[in-house]
Amino acid sequence: MLDYLIIGSGLAGIAFAETALQNKKTVLVVDNHSQNSSKIAGGLYNPVILKRFSEVWQAQEQLLLSDQFYSALEEKLQIKIDFKISILRKFFSIEEQNNWFAASDKVNLAPFLSLNLISKKYQGIDAPFGYGEVMQTGYVDTATLLENYKKYLSENKLLLEETFDYDALENKKDFFQYKSSQAKHIIFAEGFGMHANPFFKHLPLDGTKGELFIIKSPDLNLDVIVNTSVFILPLGNHLFKVGATYNWKDKTSLPTEEGKSELLERINEILNCEFEIIEHFAGVRPTVRDRRPLVGTHPDYERIHILNGLGTRGVMLGPAMAKALFEHIELGIPLDKEIDVVRFNIKK
Ligand SMILES: Cc1cc2nc3c(=O)[nH]c(=O)nc-3n(C[C@H](O)[C@H](O)[C@H](O)COP(=O)(O)OP(=O)(O)OC[C@H]3O[C@@H](n4cnc5c(N)ncnc54)[C@H](O)[C@@H]3O)c2cc1C
Repeated sequence: MLDYLIIGSGLAGIAFAETALQNKKTVLVVDNHSQNSSKIAGGLYNPVILKRFSEVWQAQEQLLLSDQFYSALEEKLQIKIDFKISILRKFFSIEEQNNWFAASDKVNLAPFLSLNLISKKYQGIDAPFGYGEVMQTGYVDTATLLENYKKYLSENKLLLEETFDYDALENKKDFFQYKSSQAKHIIFAEGFGMHANPFFKHLPLDGTKGELFIIKSPDLNLDVIVNTSVFILPLGNHLFKVGATYNWKDKTSLPTEEGKSELLERINEILNCEFEIIEHFAGVRPTVRDRRPLVGTHPDYERIHILNGLGTRGVMLGPAMAKALFEHIELGIPLDKEIDVVRFNIKK
């Protein structure tokens, strides 16, 4: 008898599986590689929404938890995934500089927005108005994390690589039977793939497609992440990840010409050097209208749960949401109303 059958091994599924394993629970993870949001993500963690100069919801708590979570995974899997590097916001005018310093005065943003104007010259970028530095930032190499975590699950016979068959799930009152496995609880963490899930069809998961590039530019020299309307993240060997776009209509994971021209236009606003596109990726972020995750228990089945809606911030949100769901199931700790899926229950 398993404690948890987990559907999905993106950032959400991995966060839950690892939280359960750390608490001595047994798990089996099912994945069919149908969604690639976590795999291709920029992986950035940034406690400030720079467009609006507001703090990310529960940023400090999430940063603390995710820091512990990814460093424990680095130790367990013997890999390097968490790169703590600064994000620099490029200023395009004096007005933007002024807005930055006004925002850094706010109590909740003060720990994250540096008061120093960065005027360092980075080869390949013109920035006559300098940069503002966001602190407590970095990125998680999500592709390396996913690859190694799947390897770990597979070696320990904790991974089923197949499409979950919802019709094969039998409710046996105290547990669920799924083919030859029995589990006390089911956790659905399918990202945008949730749309095929008959149990959670009522939830408003929108999906926002994003595209990004890996570019090569020997003339660009960066040891920080530069952020404007896109981010430029140094990967080493003259390679940089650049993204991302936001498209609310197209729900496929295929790179498009439209996405390509948008990214090229944005890159040309920042870089003054030559570059070559090495790879072009696309994925669908599991976004929700009210910008809060979808966490909790099915209204009719107390052993069926969901961990989804991580939106644009899977890296920071994943560990905190997995912990909240795990403690809700195991210890009966109520979920924060803002994330609990009961907010979308259909009134009978
Ligand atoms: C271009 C882009 C850039 C991004 N950049 C960032 C960033 O910089 N920082 C950040 O924090 N977030 C970023 N994100 C968002 C982040 O990727 C998501 O929040 C996160 O990946 C969501 O994880 P998830 O596990 O819920 O979904 P997914 O990654 O989609 O994982 C779901 C998993 O479930 C599996 N699955 C689905 N249905 C089934 C089924 N029926 N049977 C079996 N398996 C199934 C899929 O194969 C998949 O592995 C970005 C996303 C995109 C697209």
